[in-house]
Amino acid sequence: MAGIYIHIPFCKQRCTYCDFYTEVAPGFIPSLVEAIVLELKIRKDYIQNLPINTIYFGGGTPSILSVEQFSRIFEAIDSLYSVAEDAEITFEANPDDLTVEFLNAIRPLPFNRISIGIQSFDDCDLKRINRRHSSLQAIKAVKDTQNAGFDNISIDLIYGLPFQTLEAWEKQLDTALDLQVQHISAYGLTYEEGTLLWKQRENGAIETVDELIMNKMYLLLVEKTKHKGFEAYEISNFALPKYRSRHNSSYWKQEPYLGVGPSAHSYDLISRQWNVSSIAEYMKAINTHATFFEREVLSLNDRYNDFVMVSLRTTDGLDVSKMEKEFGTDLAAYCLRNIKTFTDSEKVYYSDGKLRLTADGIQISNLILIQLMKV
Ligand code: SF4
Repeated sequence: MAGIYIHIPFCKQRCTYCDFYTEVAPGFIPSLVEAIVLELKIRKDYIQNLPINTIYFGGGTPSILSVEQFSRIFEAIDSLYSVAEDAEITFEANPDDLTVEFLNAIRPLPFNRISIGIQSFDDCDLKRINRRHSSLQAIKAVKDTQNAGFDNISIDLIYGLPFQTLEAWEKQLDTALDLQVQHISAYGLTYEEGTLLWKQRENGAIETVDELIMNKMYLLLVEKTKHKGFEAYEISNFALPKYRSRHNSSYWKQEPYLGVGPSAHSYDLISRQWNVSSIAEYMKAINTHATFFEREVLSLNDRYNDFVMVSLRTTDGLDVSKMEKEFGTDLAAYCLRNIKTFTDSEKVYYSDGKLRLTADGIQISNLILIQLMKV
């Protein structure tokens, strides 16, 4: 099985925390859609005729595309790739794009999952991070999406936003859980260098949330989602039974995927490649059959690092015999030697041949993962 990821690098405005490659350049949309169709043709053999299990439109803001533009891309995928009948087909949307008209118009398209970037239900938070929508718009967007017949909805939230208190986060979670969505992705805020939010922190213009409160916020997230029947199947991802994101899971299971569009990444089990992060350069290269990506062949250590990093973040855990089989006894011994201090201190536990993080371990997951990396 394999996946297709399509990057739509347009945003109507920049959120202050975001360091993804996007541009505010709607005039480029029609020609970019044609370039994406061309790339789908050029790279038809990248995943070697494997059936496509997941298709994911991410961004940026895919919900900026019209029904005709989505249809054009789907026609290309259908004619060039073999898409599994039960494939998971997702697009990311901003709440203010999910009008009743738009939802009704896209209903006939093959989408069976929508991921809505809400981030916060607090209007002060939303203004501060320069989101386009209000809390009421977010709630209405989820309800309208449900009323339009979509029954696999994910929402994105961020905890630890500037000035956020534990009580405010609890309120956010209650609002989110009342909406009866099937999946929640919740990430602790990180300050990425060069973003406006990072500069605001450097200038002392905002109040950050300290690590202790961040940890409490995370524990509250785990507790409240669990109480409502969600499974924490990865550190930042929570799903009702049978609603794990197959797109995310395929990354974690290290299945191959083709990434199309400016700055999209691809993986074919032996190498990673990434397209140029410029709409103009990407379109020019695609249209003139020039090179539009860089490629890196993964060493054994790279593949081991990826395996440890992704598997330890999931509740399925790190399969020790799989690690020995795929990366050899030396790297497996290195991992087991370095993880011992964390199993001894109950940050990691071993059962059924798998290593998994405990609740305490999740709080220091980055520290644990650094100790296990092999350079
Ligand atoms: S809408 Fe999404 S991709 Fe665009 S700036 Fe905001 S967070 Fe980044």
